[in-house]
Formats: sequence, structure tokens, C-alpha cells
Amino acid sequence: MTAQKSDAPVNPKWTRMLTGDRPTGALHLGHYVGSLKMRVELQEKIDTFVLIADLHVLTTRNANLDEIGPNIRECVLDYLAVGIDPDKSTIYLQSLVPEVLELFWLFMPLVSVPRAQRIPTLKEQVRDLKLETASMALLSYPVLQSADILMVRGDVVPVGKDQASHVELTREIARRFNQTYGEVFPEPEAPLTPVLIGTDGQAKASKSIGNVIMLSDPPDVVEKKVRAMFTDPKRIRADIPGTVEGNPVFIYHEEFNDDQDEVAGLADRYRQGKVGDVEVKTKLAAAINRFLDPIRDRREKFAAKKGLVEEIIEAGSARAREECHQTLEAAREAMGLTYFRGGDGVEVSK
Ligand code: ATP
Ligand code: MG
Repeated sequence: MTAQKSDAPVNPKWTRMLTGDRPTGALHLGHYVGSLKMRVELQEKIDTFVLIADLHVLTTRNANLDEIGPNIRECVLDYLAVGIDPDKSTIYLQSLVPEVLELFWLFMPLVSVPRAQRIPTLKEQVRDLKLETASMALLSYPVLQSADILMVRGDVVPVGKDQASHVELTREIARRFNQTYGEVFPEPEAPLTPVLIGTDGQAKASKSIGNVIMLSDPPDVVEKKVRAMFTDPKRIRADIPGTVEGNPVFIYHEEFNDDQDEVAGLADRYRQGKVGDVEVKTKLAAAINRFLDPIRDRREKFAAKKGLVEEIIEAGSARAREECHQTLEAAREAMGLTYFRGGDGVEVSK
């Protein structure tokens, strides 16, 4: 398979993982390093849920919503292309599991307004998106994310540093719910995922910055992007000794080149000023293209199968929905909200 081994720590006690993406576009090498690689590896060992969080897109966007549908398709094709297997992972769409919104509402009384306002991503989003003020959706979005996580009762949620505060809230909600009503939810662990720097060497690889190589970029685009990559700026001639550590060209070499002897040789020569940037970059582009070739082939093959993405989403969402239904029943039962549901209260049907 195309996937390389993840560096992320794996705890043998984990049984179920939830991870996901907001469908804001196709995925890139940063997503591969940060999440896809670990999913492909863990799906072999534990129950894996992959959520496409379309409702979350509404927290920061109110225009171009018609792009969400095509973006969902791009995400699923990228998942399949890197080896996420719908027979091993449950790939599902948030809006096809409306039960999550009921759980969200059951959680809302457990979170105070100041607690929600203290979540660091809120201020960052308001600043980055230049909003006048946060909407109710943006304020309560980490509570909905907690419902996503606790709905499938996962015990592991690998996240980037930016999302860690949301899982902390999730753990608090689980704890408070269990203390108040009885034990229903696990407190999920949130191992931090690795971050890939952008091709500009200035920030993490990010779509909106444009410093990314997409999983679906064709070979010539990869070559062009690699040629333009930031490298050691002090090295204006090939005979000047260069710095390998922290150099994005070498970080990518280490991450994606399947020939690590070649990388070690290039690094040696680079430090001694005995290799030109052109050679280092040409070899990097070739390595990334070797890495992406099978991914692109698989993507193309899956994209040609009419109705495949829809089938996967429908089957996964049905499975997630069943799971969510059971969790919601357990939550309602613990809370004593069993009226009209065949519990201790009024029964509507036999
Ligand atoms: P945008 O520019 O719209 O924010 P993005 O390219 O940064 O898009 P996100 O949708 O913000 O992608 O990323 C979703 C998740 O993917 C992150 O929470 C993180 O787990 C992972 N991810 C994104 N970029 C990287 C990266 N460069 N390195 C590691 N993980 C990443
Ligand atoms: Mg981002």
C-alpha cells in the first residue's frame, strides 16, 4: 500500500477512533502527514469512524455553500486514494446523522457561556475571518464537535494542536454528564498529530495560504511547486555549506522519499556545499511523484466509478446513525428523558 508508517504513538488500549474533516476542499500532503496516514494504519487495529463535518462549515461561512457537495466528493476520493477502506472505516456525513444535533442540545446546558468564550479557537476565528462578532453557531461549535466525538463513544481522537482545546471540552462534557446523570461516555484521549510545514517554509501547509501540494496535483504541478520551495536562504551558490535541519526541502525528503539512503547522501553533500539546490529539488519532486503516483491512479479509478462515493457515504452514515441512535438512547435513559419512548413514561405504541 502507499501509506507510510505513522510516527504517532499507538496505545494498545484504544478500541475506537473518531477523526474527520470539514469539507472545504480536496486534501493535501499536510492532511496526509497530520491525519490520513494514521487513519490508514489504525483502521487495521481499531474501529475507525471518519466524519465529514459538513454542518461545521456553516460556523464560519455563509456564502458558496453549493461548494460543500463537490468538496465532500473530493474528500472521499482522497480518502479512498490513500487507502482508507470503507469496509474497515466508517466514512459518514454529519448531516445524514441528525441525531447528533439532539445530543448537542443535551450537552448545551453542561457548558457555561464564559467556558465556551474561553476556547482559544473562537478568538482566532473571529480575528482570522475578520468577523464583527461570533455567531451562536461559532460559539457553540466545540459543543457540536463534542457531540460528534461522544456520539460514537470513541476513546481516541487524534487532533492537531489547534483542535486540542475542543477535545478538552469534550472530556469535560463527558465527565460532567457522567457525574450528573450516570456513566454513559468515555473520556477520549487526544494524541497530538504531527504537522507538515508549508512549501514556503513560513507556516504549516494550509490550503488558504496556498503553500501546499495537493494529493491530486499532477506530476508537472508537483515539479513546479517543488522548484519554488523555500530552502536555506543563505545559500546563494551551490558551494556554500547549507543547513538541513528545519529546511522544508529536507523535511519533505525525509517524509516522502522512499530512498532514505539518497536523502542521507544529499544531506551530507548539502552540509558540505557539494550539491546544488536544483539536484536536491529534482530528486524531491521525483520522490513525491513516486509517492503520489499510486494515490493518483487509485483516485482516478475510484472517480470513474459512478455512484461509488454516494454509496460509501450512505452505507457509512447508516452505520453511524445506528451507533448514534444507541448512544442517544443511553443518554436519554440516564437523564430520565424516556417519556413517549417506551420507558417508565407514557408509551405511544406497542
Ligand atoms: P484552511 O486553509 O481552509 O484552514 P487547511 O489546509 O489548513 O485548510 P484544514 O481543513 O484547516 O486544512 O485542516 C483540517 C485538519 O487537517 C487539521 O485540524 C489538521 O489535523 C490537519 N492538517 C491540516 N493541515 C495540516 C498540516 N500542514 N500538517 C498536519 N496536519 C494538517
Ligand atoms: Mg486550517
